[in-house]
Amino acid sequence: MNILVVGSGGREHAIVKSLKKSTKVNKIFCAPGNGGIGLDAECVPISAMDFSGLISFAKNSVDLTVVGMDEPLVAGIVDEFEKAGLKIFGPSKLAAEIEGSKSFAKEFMKKYDIPTAKYECFDTNTYENALEYVKNSVFPLVIKADGLALGKGVIICQNLEEANAALNEMLVDNKFGESGNKIVIEEFLDGVELSVLSFCDGKTIKPMVAAKDYKRAFDNDLGLNTGGMGSISPPSFYTEEMASECMEQIFLKTLSGMGREGRPFKGVLYFGLISTKDGVKVIEYNCRFGDPETQAVLMRLDSDLTEIILACVNETLDEITIKWNDKASVCVVVVSGGYPLAYEKGFEITGIDSCSEDACLFHAGTVFKDGKFYTNGGRVIGACALANTLEKAVEKAYFMAKNIKFENSRFRYDIGK
Ligand code: ATP
Repeated sequence: MNILVVGSGGREHAIVKSLKKSTKVNKIFCAPGNGGIGLDAECVPISAMDFSGLISFAKNSVDLTVVGMDEPLVAGIVDEFEKAGLKIFGPSKLAAEIEGSKSFAKEFMKKYDIPTAKYECFDTNTYENALEYVKNSVFPLVIKADGLALGKGVIICQNLEEANAALNEMLVDNKFGESGNKIVIEEFLDGVELSVLSFCDGKTIKPMVAAKDYKRAFDNDLGLNTGGMGSISPPSFYTEEMASECMEQIFLKTLSGMGREGRPFKGVLYFGLISTKDGVKVIEYNCRFGDPETQAVLMRLDSDLTEIILACVNETLDEITIKWNDKASVCVVVVSGGYPLAYEKGFEITGIDSCSEDACLFHAGTVFKDGKFYTNGGRVIGACALANTLEKAVEKAYFMAKNIKFENSRFRYDIGK
């Protein structure tokens, strides 16, 4: 079969590489893709938000479409493809609201008794009430824009002054546009974070192996939040006991709750979790594969990703067994100097060797021109390795990351350490 992957990051490169291993797959396209994805798939220059362009391409050349990015999912790409009679992997617009609206997600968790931080929702009409609410709150306090904000719509406020400034930015100055017209103010949770991605077919949920991502720009979790500077799988603190607590208290309740809401979830449901002294709680849901967790997680998949995705689409996930290896994987993301703030693009990249089964470079912000790769984004390449122990995987991933050279390149030194 021919598959179209929608997206252009390291996550999509990892998805493409994993799909490519399947004997079921004839050809893979990626829209729009990137320089490195071009080595493994045919990139087609159609934007991920150009639904009619993607649909006419898919009608002619593709049997299945897999969406990596959040924006097209939240905007309803799955509904549009299905209306056109095309097979697509991902949640409907209604189901994707679990990521697209934080107030929806919070109210949903309250209704179905899923552990999460205490919260209140406000909007532009209730700005004064929000000011009053923060005045009576305990700090730190977390203020979040309701909609998608590229990971920048979450402000952790240490005191009343910072909270007032955040409220002003979101509800008065409209810094996050429509995404910030509504906000969630929630209790700060103290603990260690981890991510569990899961395959869902609307009725059955199968969690993938757990991962941990490194969001801050600098070592020891200092600096600004980024799209992700690295990831590991498994995080050592995620015990079997914790996994069954999550299954019972969070994963199953979420899937069945979404069904009861008339929003059955099909696709990848991502649980952003935090392990606190009062148990594991949900920080956020995403309606798709996480980046860069996917890169580390898919390195550990021994089953055929294409078969799993087809089982989700065809609602037969309960009939298959998904096999993961017991190894450890690490992904170190090499970024452009300055990221996540302003950075320059267009630098030549060297030191990119080809991939093997247990050592892979997943391209994100790269372009390929006249036989050479150049930087084209903040996160440039993820160096990802698989080994029998975490220490060995760390060593291998850093060996590759250090080989990648371009002007002003940078990475964190503490991923998996
Ligand atoms: P992303 O786009 O990176 O997935 P997001 O914008 O959807 O993030 P959240 O995941 O809700 O936002 O929050 C981003 C980060 O802020 C979390 O990973 C966590 O580190 C921190 N955070 C969010 N909510 C809380 C909370 N209640 N207590 C402590 N930290 C929090």
